[in-house]
Amino acid sequence: LKISQAETSKTVKTTKPAKKIDILEELSTNSTYAKPHKSFVVIGHVDAGKSTLMGRILFDYGIVDARTVNRLVKEAENAGKGSFALAWIMDQTAEERSHGVTVDICATDFETPTTRFTAIDAPGHKDFVPQMIGGVSQADLALLVVDSITGEFEAGFAMDGQTKEHTILAKNLGIERICVAVNKLDKEDWNEERFESIKTQLTEYLTSDEVQFAEEQIDFVPISGLSGNNVVKRDTSIAAFNWYKGPTLGHYLENVKLSSTVDTDSISKLLSEDFFVSVHDSHKDKGEYKISGKISSGVIQVGETVIAAPSEEVFKVHSLRVAKKKVDFAIRGELVEMSFKASQVSNESADIFRIGDLVSKVGSPAKTVKKFTVSLHLFNMDKPLLVGMPFVLFRNNCQVPARVSKLIEITSGKKKKKLLHLVSKQTAIVEIEVQEGSSLPLTKYSDNKILGRIVIRREGVTIGAGTVVDF
Ligand code: GDP
Repeated sequence: LKISQAETSKTVKTTKPAKKIDILEELSTNSTYAKPHKSFVVIGHVDAGKSTLMGRILFDYGIVDARTVNRLVKEAENAGKGSFALAWIMDQTAEERSHGVTVDICATDFETPTTRFTAIDAPGHKDFVPQMIGGVSQADLALLVVDSITGEFEAGFAMDGQTKEHTILAKNLGIERICVAVNKLDKEDWNEERFESIKTQLTEYLTSDEVQFAEEQIDFVPISGLSGNNVVKRDTSIAAFNWYKGPTLGHYLENVKLSSTVDTDSISKLLSEDFFVSVHDSHKDKGEYKISGKISSGVIQVGETVIAAPSEEVFKVHSLRVAKKKVDFAIRGELVEMSFKASQVSNESADIFRIGDLVSKVGSPAKTVKKFTVSLHLFNMDKPLLVGMPFVLFRNNCQVPARVSKLIEITSGKKKKKLLHLVSKQTAIVEIEVQEGSSLPLTKYSDNKILGRIVIRREGVTIGAGTVVDF
């Protein structure tokens, strides 16, 4: 069934959940939900130790067994690369991971005694920034791994445009918290001053006008991914590290509060939230459409009615899966696979679900737009941004060609009478128009803090980010 979005609340007969479930009751009694789900994306310079750290986490939580690790250590030693054994855990699970993973990003699911985690690797190469954006948009938290070795940190972070861009993207695509793993501190004798100096430098950068994290959104954990100290376990025999009173990285990740995490405080809000999924992957199989993506807010149940935008097709939810298991309902923060009977579609040849399309419930505040108003902040640009100049616009994992169609008002610094262009570091209210032939499913920032954000890139460089004011 196809219906225009404006008409939906009047004309669509919405269907009821297939089972009568008291979701709040279920969340508080079902053991699965006693374990909140959290996803984090791992970013950082090449050689900062990202793979080693992920290998260490999987090993110390007992997700990969000692036999596998011993075999990898032997293989790595034979290849003359002993220190790479832990990183190889990630490479070898990469092959296994590729089976049955419905998303095109490298995601590893694992469970600790208290939490279900999804760890997402951000591709490091410049050409992969669009995939990186897809990865970031599935995460709640960014784990930035930095090499603390004297000289390496200074060179790596100062010179590394890539890590900086990833950090900026993370902030502007809705990541609400960043944890810096100050890695390789074994090589710095667990020196407190070294840790503090890195913390000061990075805090300055992460709270700068360029990135704009608030100080309360940033945490630092000193670790050694290679030795494992302070990753999941703490080695109390290292006297030089006695100064540290904080949590291990594992303890931090298990306990950090995120707004997408459904815990006792936020459970009650869940049922009144609008339900949104931005489609991360879709395919058609045996007469069914299957889509996957992260639920950015709300709840969905089997049997309920949803609407896709921009296709405006209406579907009854046939089945739901979370972490490959069939479920009756799925909630905010979970990566869900939804299936719909294709027989419900009015025009099967059309693109029903594309990456970045929005799935919501009938009557939600999402809208497919051609023009909308944004509060846009510009980063360092090598040339000004003029009205009409083309760029690529990203909203979560959706991308469309677009341009500024009107400069409305500069909201930072001096106000100018005649607005002809925008320059680096300005903030302005602008009207954006998507290119002829495209359209963009969108929500206002006031309606959804993740899906109401955009990032713009020109010639492979991120030049600005903003929040959707109105449409
Ligand atoms: P990636 O490119 O960020 O994934 O980095 P890798 O995990 O491949 O690590 C790069 C190099 O740094 C390897 O030689 C690792 O053994 C080494 N390394 C990683 N973590 C640590 C650490 O905590 N201490 C020391 N001394 N070396 C480390």
